Amino acid sequence: MKISLGSLAPQAAANTGPQHFDLVVLGGGSGGLAASKTAAQLGKTVAVCNFVKPSPAGTTWGLGGTCVNVGCIPKKLMHEAAQLGQSRTASAWFGWDPAEEDHEWSVLMKNVQNLVKSMSFAYRTQCTTNDVALFDAFATFVDPHTVEATQRDGSVLTLTADRFILATGGRPSYPDVPGALEHCITSDDVFSLESSPGKTLVVGASYVALECAGFLRGLGFEVTVLMRSVPLRGFDQEMAAHIVTNPDPDPDPDPDPDPDPDPDPDPDPDPDPDPDPDPDPDH
Ligand SMILES: Cc1cc2nc3c(=O)[nH]c(=O)nc-3n(C[C@H](O)[C@H](O)[C@H](O)COP(=O)(O)OP(=O)(O)OC[C@H]3O[C@@H](n4cnc5c(N)ncnc54)[C@H](O)[C@@H]3O)c2cc1C
Repeated sequence: MKISLGSLAPQAAANTGPQHFDLVVLGGGSGGLAASKTAAQLGKTVAVCNFVKPSPAGTTWGLGGTCVNVGCIPKKLMHEAAQLGQSRTASAWFGWDPAEEDHEWSVLMKNVQNLVKSMSFAYRTQCTTNDVALFDAFATFVDPHTVEATQRDGSVLTLTADRFILATGGRPSYPDVPGALEHCITSDDVFSLESSPGKTLVVGASYVALECAGFLRGLGFEVTVLMRSVPLRGFDQEMAAHIVTNPDPDPDPDPDPDPDPDPDPDPDPDPDPDPDPDPDPDH
């Protein structure tokens, strides 16, 4: 499950003396990289510290943060894979002859990871071309203008700056349940699994949980969602209810659709849209 950093190997300087920058950004995800590039283009000296601690299952990745490596991008690719599979099933109705071959999880993983790594590499190149110093190092504050950046080999750099930007993002949290760390994976792991997860229990009903449930179901796995109370808390609840009550739209459309879906249409539908049954004529 571990991803080799390969060409994403640290670019950190060998120099271990204090280095000063106008701006040091903590976090090399979408936010941190955009900010660092913009500041450099405005003439500031900029450094980015980015370090990915492995997930409990041992997964790690390169530059670019959540979105590129374990978020939006691989998620959308997995959805696309699921939708293509569903279209293939549905295509029989339109006269196509869908092959009966099984989905190859390993092919999808290989291609998703190749694309993710190429995007991550492009981010690294953008740092170089914009003169942003990149440190594959975990930064902690020593004082308001100093961070210690611990590199992968354990060596510590000292970076000082006039200003810092915190763009450290977030990681999935595990519930305090015996066995959770040893036996469960999160979205940090699912986009690089060597073998398919198979029948899956998704714990939680956030958008990440439901999206993972959706693409796994679309890829043909049996999926159950364990939800405590509210699905998609904080999102439009009308849409959330729609998703929960229609969790598995039939991928195999009715091959014999009813040509007359409404055999008894009302010949005189009420044209009055006023819902008030007793309107006051004096008003
Ligand atoms: C499965 C999934 C699907 C998603 N889909 C979408 C979507 O469709 N659309 C959307 O808008 N958003 C989506 N998101 C959310 C989106 O990915 C995040 O909001 C976004 O990536 C956050 O970017 P960021 O730069 O703030 O942080 P991150 O991308 O998380 O980057 C932070 C980086 O900082 C590093 N770091 C942390 N602490 C330190 C430290 N002390 N020193 C050095 N480095 C550190 C981290 O390892 C990480 O590399 C999705 C998220 C997930 C998990």
